[in-house]
Amino acid sequence: MTRKQKKVLIRIIVSAVLVLGLQFVPVQNPQLKLALFLVPYLIIGYDILKKAVLGIVHGEVFDENFLMAVATVGAIALGEYLEGTAVMLFYQIGELFQSYAVGKSRKNITELMDIRPDYANVEKDGELVQTDPDEVEIGTVITVQPGEKVPIDGIVVSGSSTLNTSALTGESLPREAAVGSEVISGCVNMSGVLRIRTTKEFGESTASKILELVESSSMKKSRSENFITRFARYYTPAVCFGALALAVVPPMVRMAAGYEACWSQWLIRALTTLVISCPCALVISIPLSFFGGIGGASAKGILVKGSNYLEALSETAYVVCDKTGTLTKGVFEVTAIRPEEDVTEDQLLKTAAYAEHYSNHPISRSLKEAYAQPVKAEAVSDVEEISGHGVTALVEGHRTAAGNRKLMERLGIPYSQPDGIGTEVHVAIDGKYAGYILISDVVKPGAKEAIAAMKASGVKEVVMLTGDARRTAQAVADELGVDVVKSELLPADKVAEVEKLLDAKGKKEKLAFVGDGINDAPVLSRADLGIAMGALGSDAAIEAADIVLMDDDPQKIATAIGISRKTLRIVHQNIVFALAVKFGCLAFGAVGMLNMWWAIFADVGVMIIAVLNATRALRFGKK
Ligand code: ADP
Ligand code: MG
Repeated sequence: MTRKQKKVLIRIIVSAVLVLGLQFVPVQNPQLKLALFLVPYLIIGYDILKKAVLGIVHGEVFDENFLMAVATVGAIALGEYLEGTAVMLFYQIGELFQSYAVGKSRKNITELMDIRPDYANVEKDGELVQTDPDEVEIGTVITVQPGEKVPIDGIVVSGSSTLNTSALTGESLPREAAVGSEVISGCVNMSGVLRIRTTKEFGESTASKILELVESSSMKKSRSENFITRFARYYTPAVCFGALALAVVPPMVRMAAGYEACWSQWLIRALTTLVISCPCALVISIPLSFFGGIGGASAKGILVKGSNYLEALSETAYVVCDKTGTLTKGVFEVTAIRPEEDVTEDQLLKTAAYAEHYSNHPISRSLKEAYAQPVKAEAVSDVEEISGHGVTALVEGHRTAAGNRKLMERLGIPYSQPDGIGTEVHVAIDGKYAGYILISDVVKPGAKEAIAAMKASGVKEVVMLTGDARRTAQAVADELGVDVVKSELLPADKVAEVEKLLDAKGKKEKLAFVGDGINDAPVLSRADLGIAMGALGSDAAIEAADIVLMDDDPQKIATAIGISRKTLRIVHQNIVFALAVKFGCLAFGAVGMLNMWWAIFADVGVMIIAVLNATRALRFGKK
């Protein structure tokens, strides 16, 4: 509990004890009685009264404080001291509970993530000093002991160890780190001592970026939240005028009809409706539900950048996936090397690996892996990466090209027809065809189940888009059970395919695109929802996407959809429940069948139930 919350709690206790005590003191003098009751009333309600007055001064008249102030002052003016004070008391109990719940769920999220580093060990005069990570400059060597969190992104300069990424990815897949490997902040060092040269400032490091992202996610409001804000803007004044009418019209009508007016009876009813109609349960429980959903997701390594995206995710009808790196591992094995006559296998592989040296594409990485020798970077220049085609570069003075058939056609170089299934990398040197390398990728374990799970959770169609050749694409599609496959697409074609689907789908249906962030940033931003996968360590993908899956497990897509659906279910339950109770009570209150006690219990009760329901969103998949 914060200090502010503790202060409110003390006021609640003092005021409650005084009110209870006054029940046993028989005071006859009405002025004295009023004075005595004003003490606990002001103790508990002074800040609400102040806020109500300030609201009026600032022209924002109709808010909850105003409702409470009018209702309680009115009750006291009518001599209902106990009721007036009790309403204020329960209202404050409700507010306290709510601020506690919000604070707790906020804390939960960052705690669940548990990636905020507290210090960095910097060596000073031969000793390790715990330093505020904010003060560590780029290029400093920091030491991370076993059991500690890596505070800042960097490169290992000495030592080797295993890192646990579970706080970032939600899964405990250990990563090996040795001299030269890049490590990202937020991982926990499990075994050896690592010395790391930092490559980023603390604020630019992965852990800080992710925390920032999660914390700012509540700024992007969902439709449901906007609905409630707008609703409250019209609802509260409407209720106030309704109450005014209830206080004035029936007595006038009665007078006109020759009956006794009963002013105070109708005034009490009007005040009761004011208490009932306080919209706090809705106003608080809906953002809280979204907050819980986003928090529960981040604990599983799924970062959702705003409530609006969580809401859209729950309406996903089409999931469009990229193939390489998304559904397949993106780790290619060389299955055949077929050089032309005057070229050796080794030369062909070397040329390809050199040409691909600067590329980050999964194909390039696999070729470099297969070549298994260090590349002399100075031998490679003038590199041009043509997305969806391949690369061209000057390698040891020769114009070299490595890529698919499209690249060869573009360069006007005749190529051989490969024998065998796989992704083809054709190589040309100085405009002359040098042969091809066949590489093949494997589907990710769990990809098939992931697609089945998406369909089970209500996704209508799973589409696979790829720049790869038709035969390879079809083989993967058959293995995975995707509904539609489109192959040999350039990045621009992928955008066009997505646009076609966007046009064809229904208005309430959402289209999500899942990619690895390589070559697919335009599609990520064009889809209703861009989901980047395997984003750990890739800032570009984290920037471009609306939802970020920290690891590259396709099952997370289905998990994310599941969390979003659960969150939205809770939101709708809360809206319906709160409105039903409110309108029910209003009807009874207006005809005098409900006194102020019931009104305040209904208000606080609904709020507590709604908030408790909202916190369920935080837990997904736990029994
Ligand atoms: P995907 O849709 O499977 O993610 P991309 O759009 O990244 O594929 O690439 C499409 C095709 O373009 C690849 O299958 C490959 O044939 C070719 N290609 C792209 N980049 C490279 C590269 N760096 N080296 C060789 N071929 C490449
Ligand atoms: Mg790709």
